[in-house]
This record gives sequence, structure tokens and C-alpha cells, in this order.
Amino acid sequence: MVDSKIEAEKKFEDFSEWYNDILERADLIDKRYPVKGMNIWKPYGWKLMSLIDKETRRLMNDTDHQEVKFPLLIPEEEFQKEADHIKGFGEEVYWVTHAGKRRLDIPLLLRPTSETAMYPVFDLWIRSHADLPLKIFQMVNVFRYETKQTRAFMRMREIHFFEAHTCHATEGEAERQIYQDLEIMDEIARMLCIPYLKLKRTDWDKFPGADYTVGGDALLPTGRLLQIAGIHQYLTNFSEAYDITYEDLDGEHKNVHQTTYGMSERLIGALIAIHGDDVGPVIPPYIAPIQVRIIPIQYGEDRKIVDHCKTLLDKLIKADIRADIDDREDVRPGSKFYESEEKGIPVRLDIGSNELEDDIITIVRRDTGEKKTVSTKDAIKELKLIFETMQSEMYERAEEFLKNNIVDASDISEISEEKVYRIGWCGTFECGEGIEESTDRSILGTLYDGEEYSSKCLWCEEETDTVAYLCKTH
Ligand code: ZN
Repeated sequence: MVDSKIEAEKKFEDFSEWYNDILERADLIDKRYPVKGMNIWKPYGWKLMSLIDKETRRLMNDTDHQEVKFPLLIPEEEFQKEADHIKGFGEEVYWVTHAGKRRLDIPLLLRPTSETAMYPVFDLWIRSHADLPLKIFQMVNVFRYETKQTRAFMRMREIHFFEAHTCHATEGEAERQIYQDLEIMDEIARMLCIPYLKLKRTDWDKFPGADYTVGGDALLPTGRLLQIAGIHQYLTNFSEAYDITYEDLDGEHKNVHQTTYGMSERLIGALIAIHGDDVGPVIPPYIAPIQVRIIPIQYGEDRKIVDHCKTLLDKLIKADIRADIDDREDVRPGSKFYESEEKGIPVRLDIGSNELEDDIITIVRRDTGEKKTVSTKDAIKELKLIFETMQSEMYERAEEFLKNNIVDASDISEISEEKVYRIGWCGTFECGEGIEESTDRSILGTLYDGEEYSSKCLWCEEETDTVAYLCKTH
């Protein structure tokens, strides 16, 4: 039975206003910190990020990565070693130049990413082929001086960041690492209900210093893509600049092959934008800080219903369900329902005198508003089933939105809407530049897995079997 139709219209009308408004009411962050682009994580928001991090950690451990934590400050000299990397990040770097009034001998920078902090040390850690592969990761804050309009979780100057760095003996092993990273990303995307495109970036848009980059791009309600992951093949570009070598079986010194994999708090931005409705976010059950909220519906002095709810709460917590109870006496049930929706809590349990009498519970789904009544003794089994259903249905709805918004274009004049366009592209920079400038969009690359295609380049009209994805980005 559908109780109330879930409305999600505001986000398509004025995305920015809607997004800022629901974030504020969901109590995930406080944006009143007096430095632009830096927000305060409130307990509810930090719990959500920590649960995502916990799952990421689990996947990293399962694939033999070790967690590390490198210092925040990097000496200027180390940062200057890889030329493309400096060119890419130079303008975004925050510098620490003074201690009190004294100028520091060596200027230090706040890490925008940690290649230049880690790689001088990798040279010390890696001696022979026995030290390979080296697979490490860390979860830290990074700093980038964004000049564009900042937006919570999406474009920040202080970013909660995940970065994995690996070193391998051969290019083939590094390639297999990229493949494994994409499998990990698939699992994370499933948990967060964020379908995404794996696009191999153009040469002019790849990560600074990389041989190639695969971007993970999620489609937001604006019809624009948001990059939520970056996976990079460095080959020996950095290991040559930082002199990271190993001794092979024949006693020969060779440069290691390197990869990296990065993600950030953008995962939260994407899931809120994709699944939120007019009232607030809808958090997928697997990573929801509160999976179930129990709301006793009781009037007057009698505490029987509240006591019954507390017993049920204990039972849920013992079954590893993240649950709480809203038993405030001075707030009406209607307001409690609304607050639970504003926070995006995936499942609500309404328990009043009818439920108590018949020994049943009423389960309300946040994503569809559907209600279901089941016997109290089946509560745990039914809740776990609903979590699974919600996970797959939320993913499928988002996947359908993504599919419906990818369209083919065979002429520049067809490109006018806020959609993802599939276009023929001969692969040259000149044509790419022409297409990007005349459409005011970016070529985000070609599918990493490849696809069959035969058409003409949108710019020079040469026959091509390359299909590129063209879209505006956040
Ligand atoms: Zn062309």
C-alpha cells in the first residue's frame, strides 16, 4: 500500500536551492564556519562518512592494501619533482611559509593529494622484487584552493579524501590493479546506490602526471556529471621522477609501475542529489547512520507503548540493526515523522495502540512511502528484507535515470539539453577542442570497457569507431 506519493520535483526546478535547503535540515553539516569552502561535519554527517569509510576499509583489507597515515605538510622541493603534477595542482596549493613572524627556510604546502609526500619514502621502502606489490591507502583531509563556487560535499577547499597508492613490478600487474580498483568501486557504488560511468579521460583531462585516468562519473538531477572516483595509471612517470626502483631477479634495477585510486566526500553529495526528494535525503540502508527509527504513537500518561517500543529497540540493536527511538513527550507524532524524513532515515516503525494490541509493527519505507504491517516476532527478518529491497530498487531507479539521459547525437545542432551525449570523435585534440568549445561541454572520455560503434567524427566528419561522452560537469 502506498501511503503518500513521494514528491521529488524541487531538485529539477532549482537544484542549488533545493540541495542547500535539504542539507541544512538533515543536520549533516554546519556551513557557518567562517572559512569559505570549509564546513563542519556534524555528528550525523560524520557518522555517515565513517560508515562509508568503514566499508571502504573492509574492501581495501580484503584486497591486501595496508592503511597508513602520512603527514599533512609537504616540503616544496619534493612537490617540484614531477613537472605535469605541479602544473596541474600548482595554482590550488595552500602554502605554509611562516612560523610566527619568522619565515621558514623551506616552504611547506598542505597536501592537495599525497603523491609528493609518499613517493620520496617509497624509494626507501622498496629494495627488491620481494617488496612488491606495495599497496597502501589512507583517509585524510586534503586542501585545494577552489576558485569556482564552492558547494557542500561536492566542491570544497578542505576535502575528506581516500587515496590508495600501489607499486608493481610490471605494467601488466599495474593494469590488473586498475581492474581491481574498478571492481571495488562497483561494490561501493552498489552500497551507495550510485550507478556511474567508467570513462577513460581524454589526454588533456587526465590526472596531472598520469599515463591515463579512468573517471567514475555519476549523473545528478541537473543532467550534469559529477566525478566521484578517479583511478590512475602512472606507469613509471612518478617512479622516474622520484627514483623509485627495485632489484629484479637478475639483479637489475628497474622503475616500479604505479597506480592510484581516489574518492572523497563527493560520494555523499552524489547520493543525496540522486536520491533526495522534496523533503530531504534518502540514505541507503547499508550505510545509514540510523537505519530504523521507532516512533511510539501515544497520547496521555500511559507509558505502555513507549515501554513496548524500548523492548523492541533492544531487540533490533542486538540484531546489529542501527536503530533509535523518538520518545520525546512534547513533540507530536506528525512532526516526528517529518523529522525522520528530513534526515533521510530509510525505515520508520510506527507503533500505537492498535499495533500494541495486535502485537504487530507498521514499517514505513522512506524512499516510496510504502507501509507494511507485520507481526512483531518477524520484525528483524522483515526489516533485513526491506533493506535489501530498498538497496536494489534505489539503485535501479537511479540506473534508469542515467540510462534515460544518455542520448546519441550525430550533429552539433542536436546538442542543446542538459543530458549526456554519445558522439563520434576521431580522437584528435583539434576536433575535441572544437566540439567542447562549440557545445560548451566537456568530453569526459570513452567507456573503459569499450563498446561497438561506427559513425563520423562530430567535428571533422571522418569515419570513426570511437564513441565519446559529452556533458556538462559539476
Ligand atoms: Zn575529428
